[in-house]
Amino acid sequence: MSQPEFEVAIVGCGFGGMGAAIQLRRMGVESFVMVDREEDLGGTWHVNRYPGLAVDIASLTYSYSFEPNPYWSHLYARGHELKEYANHVAEKYDLRRHMRFGISVEKAHFNEEGNFWTLHPKGKAPITARVLILATGFLSQPHTPDIEGIDTFKGKVIHTADWDGNYPLENKRAAVIGTGATAVQLIPTIAPELKQLDVYQRTPIWVTPKVDTSIPKVVQNLFAKLPITQKSARLISSGILETIMVAGVLHNEKLPVLTRTMEKVCKAHMARTIKDKTLREKLTPNYSFGCKRPTFSNTYYPTFNRDNVELVTDSIARIEEDAIVTVDGKRREIDTLILATGFDLWEENFPAFEVVGRNQRNLGEWWRSQGFKAYQGVAIPGFPNLFSLASPYAYNGLSFFSTIEGQMKHINRCLGEMIGRQAETFEVTEEANEAFVAQMKEKVQKSLFIHGQCGGSNSYYFNQHGEATLLRPTSTVSGMLAQQHFPIEAYQFS
Ligand code: NAP
Repeated sequence: MSQPEFEVAIVGCGFGGMGAAIQLRRMGVESFVMVDREEDLGGTWHVNRYPGLAVDIASLTYSYSFEPNPYWSHLYARGHELKEYANHVAEKYDLRRHMRFGISVEKAHFNEEGNFWTLHPKGKAPITARVLILATGFLSQPHTPDIEGIDTFKGKVIHTADWDGNYPLENKRAAVIGTGATAVQLIPTIAPELKQLDVYQRTPIWVTPKVDTSIPKVVQNLFAKLPITQKSARLISSGILETIMVAGVLHNEKLPVLTRTMEKVCKAHMARTIKDKTLREKLTPNYSFGCKRPTFSNTYYPTFNRDNVELVTDSIARIEEDAIVTVDGKRREIDTLILATGFDLWEENFPAFEVVGRNQRNLGEWWRSQGFKAYQGVAIPGFPNLFSLASPYAYNGLSFFSTIEGQMKHINRCLGEMIGRQAETFEVTEEANEAFVAQMKEKVQKSLFIHGQCGGSNSYYFNQHGEATLLRPTSTVSGMLAQQHFPIEAYQFS
């Protein structure tokens, strides 16, 4: 085959993939296909349906800046609203006709003779495209813990990323394993329904109070009629987040007081809601605020005061067919096992499936042997015509939408140049990639990830070698400018 079927193939129909598709349409590229292993669009917001699901970045900021939604019900929208917003975006930008669902890609390889990518979906015909955009997200491979006996459990097992809404929780004896951001939303929501809830905590999480409120109809109407008002509110909300991030995390070397203040806020929040000192001690993290994604909730701590809720901090020794046994020999019977155990990021998701570039360079093997790196968090040398949106240094930890919009600018600049030059390939140079990564590593040196007490945080911000290679250690604004104005010589076109 000399010509590929499509100009572009996008893997992932979440907000990242849809942002890339909108960018393609803006550039006049209509020959593209979007595939997703799920049966509908929305990515994270299609897959996650657990009780209590809501955003943890204010909705004014957690949405495309060019497609504001005036009708968010709360400051922090509920999960289903995000799914509805995703549907709205797909309809408005006419993306659905490009989408194919139930396509689980197992491998992608670059054909050097024809200069195109071939996707190999499980049980389906290959798909070819000149350019490949990987928009598979960071938190998309659910982690099932490797606990002895977990396969022998006879009751119901539910992972939070595969919630079974038809399974009644009423009067069940359940265990939740994990106390990350997901568990913090889930636990207070389901505890009142259950007969008993045992929460197995390995690493506590910092929890601040949540300042949330419903957005009155009159404000929603104002946002709809006068978009400048919503834009201004977005600016304020983003500005607050940005200031906390830049001052507290990126410049932690100079301002460690900020993260310590946040720890005090969390401790005071706990003291207000939990009288039992031992319980408070168990729930208090021993690592600095921000080493691991913190969260907020007004209902998480009080839930542990309930008679039907027990916090278990002894390690799990094994799971039996109707119980969890901890290392102290205690056996707690359950009929429902809820895994709020997060996602495999470094082992399973970088990349999400086998990606083979020029000279048989295997992306997963290369990242593991050469270090996790990607130019501007999107391009990797040896992988022509590839934008990998969920790469090391792509996301700065705030609104994922600013990452997406930055990447749209990057695609515009690089692909626009390729089209203008009538080239068949683009490829980032080794030199540009190395220089970018060196710059990121230097910036990390000033951050909380070096100056904080992050040992013991078990944070996915750090890779398996303990290096903070996930987050881009720059402000949103400077990241956005870099995506728009990077030197085009970083790429070779042919
Ligand atoms: P997570 O933060 O990775 O938490 C997973 C939890 O499972 C941790 O407490 C972990 O303990 C525990 N765990 C894993 N394996 C275990 C084992 N073998 N034994 C005992 N405990 C085990 O995952 P998550 O809570 O699903 O959250 C992931 C991310 O999703 C968040 O950081 C956030 O970025 C995002 N999120 C966003 C929202 C939102 O926007 N609304 C909501 C929820 C989540 P260790 O810490 O000891 O590993």
